[in-house]
Amino acid sequence: MNTSDDSMSEASIQPVRVGLNHRFEFKCHPGVTCFTKCCRGINIILTPYDIIRLKDRLELSSEEFLALYTEPQILEKTDLPVVTLKVLGDGDESCPFVREDGCIVYEDRPTTCRYYPLGVASLSHKENENTDGEEFYFFVHEPHCLGFEEEKTWTVRDWRRDQGVDIHDEINAGWTDLIVRKRSFPPNIKMTEQSKKLFFMVSYNVDKFREFVFESSFLDRYQVDKATVERIREDEIALLEFGMKWLTSVLFNQDMFQMKEGAEQSIKQGDDS
Ligand code: SF4
Ligand code: SF4
Repeated sequence: MNTSDDSMSEASIQPVRVGLNHRFEFKCHPGVTCFTKCCRGINIILTPYDIIRLKDRLELSSEEFLALYTEPQILEKTDLPVVTLKVLGDGDESCPFVREDGCIVYEDRPTTCRYYPLGVASLSHKENENTDGEEFYFFVHEPHCLGFEEEKTWTVRDWRRDQGVDIHDEINAGWTDLIVRKRSFPPNIKMTEQSKKLFFMVSYNVDKFREFVFESSFLDRYQVDKATVERIREDEIALLEFGMKWLTSVLFNQDMFQMKEGAEQSIKQGDDS
């Protein structure tokens, strides 16, 4: 199982674009002889919401989850630091969460696992659910996957809903947008190491970002209304979405966050991190 559009160059993938109304036959269940084969030989890039779901399920801090279950990687064509699920050293590059009888984190499995046997590619982020944007889907035709021989018809739209992908995509929308924007930059425009560190912290280390917001002078410098402060203090998803908005503002010089009068710009350089 490989992650979204970044694996499209792999020989096993047929990058035929399909839309939300495309119909296909597929069913995955413990009775298929290939059961769990797709959980070996994996290269799964984790999204910010994947990390939140998995670390909460495993009752770990984001820092602990990152250290135990992820590997750093640089995302092709963007120079951005991302993480992949760390595979076991069992010769099969198995996912750490796969067992004979299936996935032990199934309800909180990552976005890529939910999409499979589909992948998604975003050329530009759609503004809202009524616009098409430049997003399309494709099938990950791995030879071992026999689910296509089963008789159950789906549309791509129904599959996404059934697998809970639509919720993941909605929460990760700011992150996806940031990556797509960065990918559209000419290769000679580089991010500073400090910017990459901020991107990594906000994307993946939600506990550290919470500390950054509440235990530095962040709130003395930025105008953030009281209701938002209370919401992001209690709600990790709200904190993630707030973080993505702030990151977009900082990385792309957009005035989405007002500085308080007299506040120094040095926070943009990460002096408080
Ligand atoms: S998280 Fe679960 S579904 Fe995804 S690769 Fe691992 S075992 Fe398979
Ligand atoms: S049918 Fe495909 S998705 Fe289901 S277990 Fe087999 S390889 Fe994995």
